[in-house]
Amino acid sequence: MQPLAKVYKRTIHYRNQTHKFGISQSVIQSMRFSENQLEESLKMPANNVNIISYDKFSLPSSSSDEETTDYKKIESSDDEGIQFVAQEDYRNCIRMNKQNEEAHFESLPNKSRHELFIRQCVDILLKEAVFEGTNRKNRLLNFRNPDELKKLFDFELSVHGSTHDELLGLLRDTITFSVKTGHPYFVNQLFSSLDPYGLVGQWLTDALNPSVYTYEVSPVFTLMEETVLREMRKIVGFKDGKGDGIFCPGGSISNGYGLSCARHKKFPDIKTKGLNSLPRLVLFTSEDAHYSIKKMASFQGVGSDNVYCIKTDRRGKMDILDLEAQIIKSIEEGAVPFMVSATSGTTVLGAFDPLNEIADICEKYGLWMHVDAAWGGGALMSQKYRKLLTGIERADSVTWNPHKLLTAPQQCSAFLLRHEGLLAEAHGLNAAYLFQKDKFYDTKYDTGDKHIQCGRRADVLKFWYMWKAKGTNGLVKHIERVFENAEYFTDLIRNRPGFEMVHPEPECTNICFWYIPKSLRDCKDNDNYKERLHRVAPAMKEKMMKEGTMMVTYQAQKGHPNFFRIVFQNSGLNRSDMEHLVQEFERLGSNL
Ligand SMILES: *Cc1c(COP(=O)(O)O)cnc(C)c1O
Repeated sequence: MQPLAKVYKRTIHYRNQTHKFGISQSVIQSMRFSENQLEESLKMPANNVNIISYDKFSLPSSSSDEETTDYKKIESSDDEGIQFVAQEDYRNCIRMNKQNEEAHFESLPNKSRHELFIRQCVDILLKEAVFEGTNRKNRLLNFRNPDELKKLFDFELSVHGSTHDELLGLLRDTITFSVKTGHPYFVNQLFSSLDPYGLVGQWLTDALNPSVYTYEVSPVFTLMEETVLREMRKIVGFKDGKGDGIFCPGGSISNGYGLSCARHKKFPDIKTKGLNSLPRLVLFTSEDAHYSIKKMASFQGVGSDNVYCIKTDRRGKMDILDLEAQIIKSIEEGAVPFMVSATSGTTVLGAFDPLNEIADICEKYGLWMHVDAAWGGGALMSQKYRKLLTGIERADSVTWNPHKLLTAPQQCSAFLLRHEGLLAEAHGLNAAYLFQKDKFYDTKYDTGDKHIQCGRRADVLKFWYMWKAKGTNGLVKHIERVFENAEYFTDLIRNRPGFEMVHPEPECTNICFWYIPKSLRDCKDNDNYKERLHRVAPAMKEKMMKEGTMMVTYQAQKGHPNFFRIVFQNSGLNRSDMEHLVQEFERLGSNL
């Protein structure tokens, strides 16, 4: 045990600097006051050092890094510093000093060069992004206008490299100015949360950096995908989990596969002859469906005009009579209807289309039934909530994003289908350089040719790891907690002055409502009421972004003025969070 290791003297000198050893100015400040914070912060830079005790001392007039500096112990003064008595690992000091070295160009981890740096990065990530970033007491964003951010943040690339110290600073700045989507009050979009097991899975994915196209390069991930996709098909209700599936970079792409498979099933010539071989094709989806259906129709040459949008009821569910009428209309026009894309959990209102009725119509007219359950698919986990998707087992294909209701890290989206072999038929090309048929193992495990991607990230790992961690029961509890929170939130606002529901009984965990400031509450009959209400949500959004206290999105839809859509998928929230969020709306709207 030695007094005052070199590491700590250096630390003290950083009182007036930032971003040294991963200690920011604010931490240095608090070091002077709080023992806990001090120890907390010193565990970070000096991994192998135990603080035994510390004392205040006066700063020498000329500070240096030499170990011989004479610090004088004092009781209190403006110039006070801190002297540590510590047990230290001297090797760390040597590595510490390397932090000022420039990063090296070789893309190979080198223990003596990178271990400490990576540990420090991980410490910063854990402290600032993972724990502070999800702490209710902290702001979830630090909004700056683009011009301001360009000044505050060192975006520019240069001929010269950076030092590890500078890189730590950049890491930290990136965290500071990013939105903490794992924060409990990030309730803005259909994804959120920072699942601890998902995070580790994500990190592991990146440490291994696989590409899931052949068994040879991704043996574990290939079998993991097979397992998870089969389990998901069982949960959907495909018999014995039979069928096929792939992980896609997002639900939009999964929906695109639905379109591609549906078309290939009816017109296999499309693959080689292209669009010229086809009549005009028409598909159907509701007017509340996700925009990716139209986007994919454009992308794949079907054309967005050939996506017939079916009316929805007040709640946002597809109108079956209109669906059949539109199908008949398209046939009368001489076009060929080929697919219906139903939605389970619409993006804004959270509505579930009536799948059994849609399946009947698809059978009657020989249409492919796709179910876009990107958002609502998670409800399948729970016996209580899977009723919302009754009939999904009759679908030809399903989009289901575990990165939404199940809070797997971005991105994690599955495309599932009941048909075996169709994916490979529609998209396979047998690239001889990659999918050699004369390999020494069973090449049916070279699954990459089913995809339109070549290299592909192993999105399965983080989800599989979460599933392993929590068990299916844990995922059920997660879903039920999130739905219960949403129901509780709805109950809180349904009859509360200032709140008005877009629909009184939301089906999913996205809840749409207006906040009506006091100044507008008695003006309902005024001519400009709608216009004024339309301006409320954007004004409140600006305020919440600038204060950084929560994030909730808004939109206008179905001829309504702007309304809020709050979204829950984080099972770490509880009833008092629901109460807090309601009060936060009232606070933000109080002066409007
Ligand atoms: C989010 C969403 C999508 C798109 O999924 P991404 O992963 O964001 O591409 C598609 N459909 C519905 C219903 C969605 O809510």
